[in-house]
Amino acid sequence: MRKRIIAGNWKMYKTMDEAKSFVTEVKGRLPESDQVQAVICPPSLYLSELTSLSEDSMLGIGAQTMHDTDEGAFTGEVSPKMLAELHIPFVILGHSERRQYFNETDETVNKKVLAAFSHELTPIVCVGESLKQREEGKTVETVAMQVKKAFEGVQAEQAKRAIIAYEPVWAIGTGKTATANDANDVCKEIRSEIGQLYDEETASAIRIQYGGSVKPSNLAELLSMDDIDGALVGGASLDADSFVEMIEVAS
Ligand code: PEP
Repeated sequence: MRKRIIAGNWKMYKTMDEAKSFVTEVKGRLPESDQVQAVICPPSLYLSELTSLSEDSMLGIGAQTMHDTDEGAFTGEVSPKMLAELHIPFVILGHSERRQYFNETDETVNKKVLAAFSHELTPIVCVGESLKQREEGKTVETVAMQVKKAFEGVQAEQAKRAIIAYEPVWAIGTGKTATANDANDVCKEIRSEIGQLYDEETASAIRIQYGGSVKPSNLAELLSMDDIDGALVGGASLDADSFVEMIEVAS
């Protein structure tokens, strides 16, 4: 039985005060559930403070990105070693906005995935097709290739604890959601790709989220699908009520 995971990607939103208020409020309202893991991924500047604030609660904290090396002359970057030192359990890697605006490629994502595992961080590896790729009928091909490249050199034992977020690029921040059936079909293909790269055991252990305009009202249907184990949520994760409601729906 795979534990569901609902992760909020805050992107570059919220002041420190707003972030602290969110955590203070939400940690007391989360349902006690062993069915779902609740995570927020704030801007890196807030990771340390929010980690302390969320201690002894059900709320996990994750980073939105990181560099692939431990240290070096990389102005502005945060390293996996630094995240590990703060005991940050999760890191989003290869989000489509990182691919689009910060030149991340399947190769750089793969380096980061390997670096995350070497520091015992759990990567949330984002994959997804563009509208053009979908219209050309290349969704499965695109996503399978992204998965294959991201997991190059990753051991089965590591892959089992990874999280893959299937996020069709055309659905992120647009209000357009893939239908639950369409999303599940792609998540199933991703699981089958993992099965081919590793084995059945790894394929059934790995958790696959859907992401793209998820909100409390469409989450239940998505979660009712066999191959969808949670959601990566942008906009709707910024509001405390919506976030708590989504955790309740997933519980
Ligand atoms: C995201 O940023 O990963 C995302 C899915 O955003 P939204 O939920 O706003 O579409």
